[in-house]
Amino acid sequence: MTLIIAMDGPSGSGKSSAAKGVARALGYRYLDTGAMYRAITWWMLEQGVDVEDAAAVAARAGEVRIQVSTDPDAPGIAVGDLDVSGPIRSRAVTAAVSAVSRVPEVRQVLVALQRDIMADGSIVAEGRDIGTVVAPEAPVKVFLTASEEARALRRAKEIADPAVSVEATLADQARRDKLDSTRTASPLTKADDAVEIDSTELGLDEVIDTVVRLVKE
Ligand code: C5P
Repeated sequence: MTLIIAMDGPSGSGKSSAAKGVARALGYRYLDTGAMYRAITWWMLEQGVDVEDAAAVAARAGEVRIQVSTDPDAPGIAVGDLDVSGPIRSRAVTAAVSAVSRVPEVRQVLVALQRDIMADGSIVAEGRDIGTVVAPEAPVKVFLTASEEARALRRAKEIADPAVSVEATLADQARRDKLDSTRTASPLTKADDAVEIDSTELGLDEVIDTVVRLVKE
């Protein structure tokens, strides 16, 4: 039987590490849907599309060819034949991704691709709208949160660039959270039947154990 575990939450809530850990613990595949929104954003920027122009973004959304690895030990993403796993984490992509992901045509293309990938076998999928839109039928849904400070600290550690301060990371995160949760198309919200886990005071292993327990219940 194919099972989908939905893990949603804001940036820096620890979703990626937790979702990969849960996938490893259960022998499931892993899908980072944020990487897909980042990949389409990277491509739009490469193509010179004005990402603030929703009509221009919508007109090109169907052209992009994205391939995703669902191995939790070797996650990766390509556009066409090009591995973009590194470039999608750039500051330019991070600054533009919320504008691109609010466009309904972008979401249609990516949600269809996500559902195709999910149909191939059990998977832990992380994002913003997995439990609400992509897979509302998922038997286990988790909404991961953490305090703003804890999230900014984690992101700053991930970025590991002394030129980028925790304050700047906090400001970028607050801007992105606001855009992600106030957009019209699939805003970031907790599904009614999702279990909320606040990871501010929890270690990664504790979060993973909590989710694995929910799956086994
Ligand atoms: O998870 P990550 O921070 O890499 O996601 C990047 C951006 O992609 C988010 O800020 C959001 O705008 C968008 N996103 C989305 N829906 C998802 C996953 C990510 O809109 N399911």
